[in-house]
Amino acid sequence: MTARLYYNDSLLARFDATVTEAGVLPDGRPFVVLDKTGFYPTSGGQPHDLGRLGDATVLDVIDRDEDAAVLHVLDRALGPGVDVSGEIDQARRLDHIQQHSGQHVLSAAFVHACAAPTISFHLGPDVSTIDLTAVLEAEAIARAENEANRIVQENRPVEVRYASAEEAAALPLRKEPKRGGTLRLVDIENWDLSACGGTHVSRTGSIGGIAVTGWERYKGGTRVGFACGHRAVRHHRLLRDVVIEATRALSVQMSELPEAVRRLQSDSREARQQVRGLTESLAKYEAAELASSAKEIAGHRFVVRVVDRDANGLKLLAQAAAALGPSVVLVSPSRPALVVAARGATVVGPNFSSAVTAFDAKSLVASLIARFGGKGGGRPEMAQAGGLDGDPTEIGAASAEILKGD
Ligand SMILES: [Zn+2]
Repeated sequence: MTARLYYNDSLLARFDATVTEAGVLPDGRPFVVLDKTGFYPTSGGQPHDLGRLGDATVLDVIDRDEDAAVLHVLDRALGPGVDVSGEIDQARRLDHIQQHSGQHVLSAAFVHACAAPTISFHLGPDVSTIDLTAVLEAEAIARAENEANRIVQENRPVEVRYASAEEAAALPLRKEPKRGGTLRLVDIENWDLSACGGTHVSRTGSIGGIAVTGWERYKGGTRVGFACGHRAVRHHRLLRDVVIEATRALSVQMSELPEAVRRLQSDSREARQQVRGLTESLAKYEAAELASSAKEIAGHRFVVRVVDRDANGLKLLAQAAAALGPSVVLVSPSRPALVVAARGATVVGPNFSSAVTAFDAKSLVASLIARFGGKGGGRPEMAQAGGLDGDPTEIGAASAEILKGD
């Protein structure tokens, strides 16, 4: 068991200790256990500290459940029995203190203002979250946020004390404690009493302020994001910069932003509809132009053309042109090439009846694949292939030859 100096001094920045155990984790990183430590191990939703132990850098701090030892994972090995001095990254610790104490104040505010208990807490790198059992709307969340900030501004004392499980059972703890034995209690005067092993402020004013950054429905309740102290300012700065950029881009005031975005969305929807309409009419003209260029091959009308379209565009154009009369073979200008063949709606020529049966789009595509490679298929009325390894003009010429041979 490691004596935890942070329990009674959450601002302790330096300490001296002795290495009582030195080992290597399964992942190969060395670790040491000390007789006492100021380093906080990841637990209770609060991440571990960083810092230095002698010449070594502390990379991770782990709570070993079986013997309550604190493992300091290091970038280099330290021998057992050595005396070391520890130095804790204070900026990181202070940030964690603000978030964790802020969480206690905010969770209690949700109980007092909305009767919504917290079931879990996560202290993230930018924002932290608490999960509440109730589904809450903006108004209720703002009420709890106001209450939490009132407690911060009243600068109430925060005390740490210890109680046995029996003593604790008689106390109005916000949450049922998970462990037995002696409990460490964090007491925010006349506001919140919780069993917690985390590091906390000594007065609520040091939390600085509590800002709810967002919320969402989560597992039948609400997940609330928040940022305290320096983080709240950092978050505000981020929002401010985004808003300034958006208001400048749209030439509107901040309060007009949502309306301006809605207007843009509806304008762009309208424009998309117009483009769709115009594209369709354009396709009709293109199809008419294609159909009118049909040439007679072996007694019926054909269009063989290289057209720059994707597979779907080629198919739509071939269908539209074929609907106007001639059979159509379209080849993309890319290499490998795409080919689409469509049987014409009417076949004009001396051998009307034989011509209709003569053009089989599927067998044409199969002949092209046999010659140029690639893959494809379809029906006698409509077939397509891709991956043809040949010059597009050559593929077009080959199609005409195959048609003549029919
Ligand atoms: Zn806590």
